[in-house]
Amino acid sequence: MRVLVLTGAGVSAESGIPTFRGKDGYWRNLDPMKLATPEAFASDPELVWEWYRERRQRIRSAKPNAAHEAIVRLSTFAREFLLVTQNVDDLHARAGLPKEKMVQIHGNIFVTRCSRCDLEAEEAEEEDVEHDYEHPPSLGYGMAGEHEHDKIPKCPECGALMRPGVVWFGEQLDSNKIDIVEMFVGGGRCDCVFVIGTTALFGYIVDWAIRARGQSGELIEINPDETPLSQFATQVVREPAAAALPRIVDEIIRCRSSSLDADNKGGESRQ
Ligand code: NAD
Ligand code: ZN
Repeated sequence: MRVLVLTGAGVSAESGIPTFRGKDGYWRNLDPMKLATPEAFASDPELVWEWYRERRQRIRSAKPNAAHEAIVRLSTFAREFLLVTQNVDDLHARAGLPKEKMVQIHGNIFVTRCSRCDLEAEEAEEEDVEHDYEHPPSLGYGMAGEHEHDKIPKCPECGALMRPGVVWFGEQLDSNKIDIVEMFVGGGRCDCVFVIGTTALFGYIVDWAIRARGQSGELIEINPDETPLSQFATQVVREPAAAALPRIVDEIIRCRSSSLDADNKGGESRQ
């Protein structure tokens, strides 16, 4: 079985991480769609960093939910599997999905990178004191003449401002990540494509979902609301992901296992 799963903020909503467009998305009355931009960082980097530090904190204290766990079960059952997540949180990984089965197409919130040169580092898991954010030991801040009271980390190599390692609205995707997804999508038709908890407003998400499904694969959308992809779905599930996905995944595994058992009469039952 060949499976592509595309997820967005909705898959982490039941872990307590707000979506951008939902009612809890606003932060101090500010619209995340405006904060997650290069323009916001250029005009007020301290404010943008403060928002990201709070989000990192919130993600650290959150736990993967039943939807993340169901995706892991699906990944071990399927012979070929790729998750493309727009989420910058680490909940898919913490649920147990190996890195090689996943592409974080919009980056990783725990990466801090230079806004000018190539320097980047992943933040330590246990970083929870504000002071540590400003001077992460892994990057050796202070080496580039950083002032003690600066709120924003500076690059120890070139002195430019450090920024979160995420793709902001209006920025290019990482071409290496696009290549991984294109290889998978171009590598054969998927039996099942899941689109879970995303408004699907980015053209590449819609394009990958439709191409991967081909003429005959299933395209299953799980989202309480309608999206631009709904019209192309072969199955639409208007429920929260953590409620619906475990049931759907277990059904697929049960059906596929029993039909394979019947075919193979006790032979290899995984595909
Ligand atoms: P979005 O905020 O635009 O939309 C979330 C979607 O999830 C909506 O369509 C909504 O109807 C649906 N949804 C809400 N609760 C759900 C649930 N319990 N189960 C299933 N679906 C549910 O998110 P987006 O489409 O991912 O795009 C916004 C951008 O912001 C993306 O880049 C995204 O990664 C980023 N973002 C990431 C996180 C995160 O990493 N957890 C959180 C917020 C935003
Ligand atoms: Zn630099």
